Amino acid sequence: MKVYSHSKLSTFEQCPQKYKFRYVDKIVIIEKSIESFLGKTVHSVLEWLYSEVKQGRIPSLDEVILYYSQAWTQTYDEKGIIFNGQMTQQDYLEKGVKFLIDYYVKHKPFDDNTLEVEKEITLTIDEKGDYRIRGFIDRLVYNLKTCEYEIHDYKTSGTAPSQEKLDEDRQLALYSIAIKELFGKDKEVLLVWHYLAYNKNVHSKRTNEQLEELKRNILDLIHTIESTQSFRPYISRLCDWCEYQNICPAWDNAPGFKGVQKKIDEF
Ligand code: SF4
Repeated sequence: MKVYSHSKLSTFEQCPQKYKFRYVDKIVIIEKSIESFLGKTVHSVLEWLYSEVKQGRIPSLDEVILYYSQAWTQTYDEKGIIFNGQMTQQDYLEKGVKFLIDYYVKHKPFDDNTLEVEKEITLTIDEKGDYRIRGFIDRLVYNLKTCEYEIHDYKTSGTAPSQEKLDEDRQLALYSIAIKELFGKDKEVLLVWHYLAYNKNVHSKRTNEQLEELKRNILDLIHTIESTQSFRPYISRLCDWCEYQNICPAWDNAPGFKGVQKKIDEF
């Protein structure tokens, strides 16, 4: 049995060469963007907040911000962080504070019946059981008013996709298959994204037919990955955030020329 994740599949779609670096050659480069560090830290705070709520205690806003600043200080590693643009570390730190204050004020007392935080899910994609998808749900809720399960996902990016894009989003739709496998195919599952930079929630739903089609598409993608012989680099604006750029054959890494793109027809 082979295990895939949404991010593994997305990496292949973004750039087969990057997929090869990460999942075939297993090259680990610790560098990460300040944006991903901010996202991870904010996620850890919201995980802690709801874990406390589940135990019957609502942390104060001051406690939440203190927890966040301590998590930031303890895990921030100056050497491993890539900055893009003009913003400083302090700017990003403060951005996270704003996200958390807005979220706290909007959602207090956090009584939406959270069942689990960081819930691990796995689901089988094919009938033979050769392929499984594994992932983590930021927060799983059972809404007592609507009698629906809700999959909540936090986003810290500075852009929010359109409703049409979210109606086609794969990650939470995949997780909803796992929730239906756990609690019953007849159960309704609402997908909820929290765009923290905009302090707004966006919702979407999938029919069982759409989920079956999604499984077929995922299986096709896995077959494509497994039959790929040549993992070609795909240059895009995402290269600027790619930790493999320094070893990527699509970029000229001679001293003084880092970041100068070679012609794509070399590949
Ligand atoms: S730098 Fe760009 S082309 Fe190279 S591996 Fe990364 S994403 Fe792919």
